[in-house]
Amino acid sequence: MKASQFLLPTTKEDPQDAVVASHKLMIRAGLVRKSHSGLYSYLPLGLKILKKIESIIREEMNSSGALEFELPILTPSEFWETSGRWDKMGKEMFRLQDRHDNVSCLGPTHEESFCHLMKPMLKSYKDLPINVYQVHTKFRDEIRPRYGVIRSREFTMKDSYSYHLDDESLDETYQLMRKTYRSIFGRMGLATIPVQADSGNMGGSDSEEFMVVSPIGEETLMICPSCGYNGNIEKTAVILNEEASPTKSYLDGNKVETPNVKSIEEVASFFSVDKSETIKTVAMMGDGQGILVFIPGDRELNEAKLKNASGLNEIYAMGPKDLEQYNLKAGFIGPSSTFHPGLKLYLDTSISANREYVVGANEFEFHKKGFIFGDSLFHKDSLYERVDLVLARKGDSCPNCGSGLNEEKGIEVGHIFKLGQKYTKAFEMKVLDKNGKTRDLTMGCYGIGVNRCMATIIEQCNDEKGIFWPISVAPFEVCLVNITKKEEDTARVEEIYQSFKLSGIDIFWDDRDLGPGFKFKDSELIGFPIRLTLGKDFVERNEINILIRKSGKEIQHTYTNFESLKKQIADIIQDLYTDLGASNV
Ligand code: ATP
Ligand code: MG
Repeated sequence: MKASQFLLPTTKEDPQDAVVASHKLMIRAGLVRKSHSGLYSYLPLGLKILKKIESIIREEMNSSGALEFELPILTPSEFWETSGRWDKMGKEMFRLQDRHDNVSCLGPTHEESFCHLMKPMLKSYKDLPINVYQVHTKFRDEIRPRYGVIRSREFTMKDSYSYHLDDESLDETYQLMRKTYRSIFGRMGLATIPVQADSGNMGGSDSEEFMVVSPIGEETLMICPSCGYNGNIEKTAVILNEEASPTKSYLDGNKVETPNVKSIEEVASFFSVDKSETIKTVAMMGDGQGILVFIPGDRELNEAKLKNASGLNEIYAMGPKDLEQYNLKAGFIGPSSTFHPGLKLYLDTSISANREYVVGANEFEFHKKGFIFGDSLFHKDSLYERVDLVLARKGDSCPNCGSGLNEEKGIEVGHIFKLGQKYTKAFEMKVLDKNGKTRDLTMGCYGIGVNRCMATIIEQCNDEKGIFWPISVAPFEVCLVNITKKEEDTARVEEIYQSFKLSGIDIFWDDRDLGPGFKFKDSELIGFPIRLTLGKDFVERNEINILIRKSGKEIQHTYTNFESLKKQIADIIQDLYTDLGASNV
């Protein structure tokens, strides 16, 4: 491709609304342009990269045996009503009404659509297992679209769904997808860590997110340096190191007047204790039901764990009316044996039974000190349901081996789930087994954010000059910059360019009528992996300068014939591929 026939709208200035490197560089290098909030247009260079990422995904998915489909993006509300998600998906779904008053949404994900499609086609155990996928546009009305295409409202996802007769078969495909994902991300130059994740309202059991460690990541990963355990912060179990032995309970502890002392900080400072020696009582409403959650004062409630423990779908903080209904004094709520009978009580497992705590006294402007939960925690008919309810944090014990956990930020580029029977049951997907008996199916789902991968690669591969693309997804493998002036010299460059075009090496020729500085800057900003410069040295001594963008290494090639130049470039390309594999094992 010749630059003079292409469009290279590169800019020097960072876009005003961009805060992360990938967003700035995608705009500056002329890969995308913002259309509106969370909406981006892909320009030819950006699209070429996106398509390369897609084709890596397709190749690996196809080689795993998955079958490609393409379903409508517009999905009728009936599908979502069948699964019970029409209401649950809330405001994230773009909903619309057609001229016949039928309501649909722009699909944020396609479990329902694929179940609807596959149900009549899967009749016998012989049709299973099957893994179906598409690479298609998704819409999500994100509360906060940000970081450019990392969190946008319209994006491309590779989503696949597998159907099985039993859990064993589901596990086989799940493990195969796990392996396939490692190959996909490895091939595009992304070093990912699969971390155990919460399966949220998707239902099901196993779930792992593929994370790329990055300071701009929105997810927090807990990583064990000793045994290799990886979990996201929501999923990671928090374990109490020494379980206390039950002692007497002092439900009446010492009551102390605490005027204007409400927050955990205020309580800890008033009583001169550490925050961990106080109890934080979180008053919540869940599906219309009042809940009190007791956690150590220095910890944060993990809503995902609470939802899992309680089976509740929507939880939010109690408002003044709810507090009044349950006779609760905000800021002074503490353990009690005489709560409103309608309240559900949850107590975090990291609260010790025989340690003394400062707690709310359930009286306006009063706390109790020296409160011990004691036996009340261990009675079979205990008031409290005792479960793990807090967010993990750095230094917590690894749930696997007990060593101290580290914390990292990560970008989620892919996700694999065992969905179980949530959707197959809702859509009544059944087949006949070997014995002619009707069996319910079970299901897995597997997603990759294509545009997010592209941005994440840039996050990993950039420097002060711009992007350095991994060879596998680079818009072109080689950029040819000629800074010769005379017509006869340009004719020789044209000849080399034409030979490259026939050689299978993907080449971009910056033949624009611009100064060398400008061309060099653009090629570094855009991030072509290899640059060939043909200038004065070429005219005088047949010398071509080869620059490897990532390492900055320069090689002088004395041009004798095209074949030897081609061989040298092909070897460099091969080395860059080897490098890519080596850094992602
Ligand atoms: P997140 O927690 O980042 O919102 P998610 O859990 O909602 O992600 P999934 O429903 O598992 O994401 O979707 C599969 C993949 O699609 C994600 O791993 C991510 O790479 C990508 N993805 C999800 N939402 C967006 C978005 N708004 N913009 C771009 N890519 C997205
Ligand atoms: Mg999301």
